[in-house]
Amino acid sequence: MADNKLYEILGVSRNASDSEIKKQYRKLAKEFHPDKNPAAGDKFKEISYAYEILSDSKKRSLYDKVGLKGMQEGAQDGFGGDHLFSHLFGGGLFGGFGGLGGGGSRRRQRGEDTIHPLKVTLEDMYNGKTSKLQLSKNVICVTCAGKGSKSGNTERCQTCNGCGLKVTYRQIAPGMAQQTQTRCPDCLGEGEKINEKDRCTTCKGKKVCNETKILEVHIDKGMKENQKIFFRGEGDQQPDMEPGDVVIILQQKPHEKFQRNGDDLYFKHTITLTEALCGFSFVIHHLDGRDILVKHPPGDVIKPGGVKCVMNEGMPHYKNPFEKGNLYIPFEIKFPENHFTNETNLKALETLLPPRSEFTMPFGDHVEEVDLHDFDPSDKGNYSRNEAYASDDEEQMHGSGLQCAHQ
Ligand SMILES: [Zn+2]
Ligand SMILES: [Zn+2]
Repeated sequence: MADNKLYEILGVSRNASDSEIKKQYRKLAKEFHPDKNPAAGDKFKEISYAYEILSDSKKRSLYDKVGLKGMQEGAQDGFGGDHLFSHLFGGGLFGGFGGLGGGGSRRRQRGEDTIHPLKVTLEDMYNGKTSKLQLSKNVICVTCAGKGSKSGNTERCQTCNGCGLKVTYRQIAPGMAQQTQTRCPDCLGEGEKINEKDRCTTCKGKKVCNETKILEVHIDKGMKENQKIFFRGEGDQQPDMEPGDVVIILQQKPHEKFQRNGDDLYFKHTITLTEALCGFSFVIHHLDGRDILVKHPPGDVIKPGGVKCVMNEGMPHYKNPFEKGNLYIPFEIKFPENHFTNETNLKALETLLPPRSEFTMPFGDHVEEVDLHDFDPSDKGNYSRNEAYASDDEEQMHGSGLQCAHQ
């Protein structure tokens, strides 16, 4: 039955003390200040209006008795007459106001999170590690308990009357004024001032001090690039505010040998043509220090671009490190240089390798024999000479060049 709107706007209970109301009003006025929050202009008006009524003991007790509507009706009797009555009722502004009301008390405003990137090696993500991270943060001044003054007192700023805002009217045309609100220059939007002599000497009236803190960051096995590690409430402290979090974002330094994709690892390995045909052994020095011996039998030919897999030798799964991804080994094959291929060798080779594909010599006038030249797609000189042709040709050349490299 009782009209509770104004209390809900400020987020205080019906029996809130004057200082509670004032404190809450300042907080909300800052939050919904049109400078910071241009979309919340009407909320700001409502907050100011609620404070105007509730901070005045006469108006407050009348409001408690008769509610806003009763006050509006009584407006003709000399009290109020404020256009905001109609504004509040007529405009339907309370419709979208659910966020502020509810249980009557608002959650404390929360400070910003502090984000720290942390460079880690792939070995750290494989084995796990505890890193110490030093950071500096603001903490509530212990000497003054965040009051900023020796006496614990603050005075309401005279310039802005405690609301932290400066309202100026500017005439833009005869009979038309524009109202602008800016942060109060005297109290910097705080709404309160501390007498210079009364200022806390530790924090110099700033209410907070800078402190160096060491955080122990546990990098668990299997953590990934860009994974976030939260330190709840370790952000900067401010009076009347819930501190934000410190958020560590992992960034993996590139590894010389391994690439990672999810929980899988990739280890590029180059073998000779002889090894590709006749088998090989090699050692992978793994991220945990083990030497993984890889053996491949002769006769099981590895082709260029071939990939082999070692099961369960990838990255440990996060939170389940005994399970692991796979280790993939893409092979690159190094072909012998030209000087190896003298005629005797070639003859011998040909007897060992599978027979050539069949070839029939064409004949007739339309047959034209051409010379093959070396082509290097990265060779700019070669390229510009071909620019006389259509760009299609260029692409074709490029494409065929790449194809050749793989065959
Ligand atoms: Zn001020
Ligand atoms: Zn202090």
